[in-house]
Amino acid sequence: MTVSHWQTDVPRPTEDVDVLVVGAGLIGCAAAFIAHDAGHDVTLVDARDLAHGASGRNAGFMISGLDSYYHRAVERYGEAVVREMWALSKESIAFWRGIVEKAGDVPYEQCGSLLLAESEAEAAELALAAKALDTAGFSAIYHDHDPLGRGYHAAIEQPDDGAVQPVALTRALLRLSQARLVSSNPVYAIEQGQPDIVTVYAEKAIYKARYVMLCTNAYSPFLDDYFVGRILPTRAQCLVTEPLPERVMDHVGYSRYGYMYYRHTFDNRFLIGGARDLFTAEEADTSEDRLNPHVQSALDAYLKHYFTDVTAPVARRWSGIMGFSVDGLPQVGTLPGKPRVAYAVGFTGHGISLGAMTAQRGIDHLLTGANPGAIAASRLD
Ligand SMILES: Cc1cc2nc3c(=O)[nH]c(=O)nc-3n(C[C@H](O)[C@H](O)[C@H](O)COP(=O)(O)OP(=O)(O)OC[C@H]3O[C@@H](n4cnc5c(N)ncnc54)[C@H](O)[C@@H]3O)c2cc1C
Repeated sequence: MTVSHWQTDVPRPTEDVDVLVVGAGLIGCAAAFIAHDAGHDVTLVDARDLAHGASGRNAGFMISGLDSYYHRAVERYGEAVVREMWALSKESIAFWRGIVEKAGDVPYEQCGSLLLAESEAEAAELALAAKALDTAGFSAIYHDHDPLGRGYHAAIEQPDDGAVQPVALTRALLRLSQARLVSSNPVYAIEQGQPDIVTVYAEKAIYKARYVMLCTNAYSPFLDDYFVGRILPTRAQCLVTEPLPERVMDHVGYSRYGYMYYRHTFDNRFLIGGARDLFTAEEADTSEDRLNPHVQSALDAYLKHYFTDVTAPVARRWSGIMGFSVDGLPQVGTLPGKPRVAYAVGFTGHGISLGAMTAQRGIDHLLTGANPGAIAASRLD
């Protein structure tokens, strides 16, 4: 979203704030909570409103790990990085569980996940992934057959994984952070002229902040050119049915190398998302939040093929924009020449899996200069 000259050519207040978080999604609210816990007063601003980005549009899976199977991730990033990332995702899931317990009103279940193979080739990949997980000491159960009896070829079961209502989780974080949220307030420029004060220009106010944390994920390239080529906006699509008379699966399911995902909602609807791999040219490199009829038809076809018992009509279809990281790992750092402006972005469709501890490392980096480890964006310089 851009901001015109006219929208800013009007009197606006100037406000002194302690920590300013830009972006009121799950990660911005987690950052607000963590900064509050460290003794800071937090102001959150969002161009739209709480959880209007990907955080309010995702599938709510809390699945351990990255977007690729463990052994493939090791080939790409090396054993040490992958071990660190898996641990980071387990810690993130534990963090969200703590918030669920504290809040008391966030629908969540530790239902476990099934990574399912749609072909013999994928089954062989899952067998290798299970072996690699076992060697690395992460718990996973390998099934050499389809535990659902639906035509899959094999599965990895991860009992610690779960499902959440993501908007309820984001709301709970905001409440617990005691942050003030200013909605409909896009930030359009950030300057750091002094070592300890950052000037943030937003439509409703000019903020003089001691610290600034950017949690703008997919939208980051529109806020600062620095993110162009580092964060790639990518669209994803979902649908839910009307409520079903009974559950058709207990776990959250994930297949075709993660391109398909499905679960029950807490009011027993069936949710299915994905199929982006069939239409990559249309779904990649876009921040246009709209339905793609080709992808939606592919979701319908998938339901008909694998879930013939889900006969309830579709109740809602939607899309959302994910922030893909150019190398697949989240990015934490500070903007060039602006040491008091940090960011935690680039979740590659796994912001619930990886987001809490990425926000933690982002806030630690901003407030204390702590090294963000494998997710330090300096690896891309
Ligand atoms: C359909 C779909 C399914 C998904 N399923 C899963 C899943 O099951 N599990 C999982 O782990 N992940 C999933 N994801 C990914 C997950 O939703 C994201 O990784 C996560 O929500 C990112 O959170 P965020 O707070 O960083 O970004 P967002 O929620 O996108 O929040 C960014 C916020 O920044 C605001 N903003 C942007 N620019 C500005 C500006 N200039 N000024 C002020 N505010 C600004 C936006 O308005 C927005 O509210 C899915 C995503 C989609 C779209």
